[in-house]
Amino acid sequence: MPTHPTAPESLPQYLAEGVPKQDDEDLHALQDWIDDLLEYRQDIAAEDIDASEGESIEAVEESSSGTVVIKKVSCGKDNCKCQSGELHGPYKYVVRRQGNSLNWDYKGPVSE
Ligand SMILES: [Zn+2]
Repeated sequence: MPTHPTAPESLPQYLAEGVPKQDDEDLHALQDWIDDLLEYRQDIAAEDIDASEGESIEAVEESSSGTVVIKKVSCGKDNCKCQSGELHGPYKYVVRRQGNSLNWDYKGPVSE
């Protein structure tokens, strides 16, 4: 007799206990929903990427790990050259959705 598959260890208990209780139809629906959620998190349109004050978006590219954004930034210091428009960077970020906001994961400087 096949053994019951174990849930991923990192899964919260309410999911590990709750998911196996669903019927086949709901499990398939859940599977589709998870696929949609993952796709949604990675699908960030260029217009969703807003440049804050003192920032300049140089490039937005799709990648398998998320949306890669290259931008130049201001450090906010009063006497810095960036205050007169000479921004720092460019720096690379991978942007993903987290709830209703965007999570900017800093990946380091980019050589021009
Ligand atoms: Zn600066």
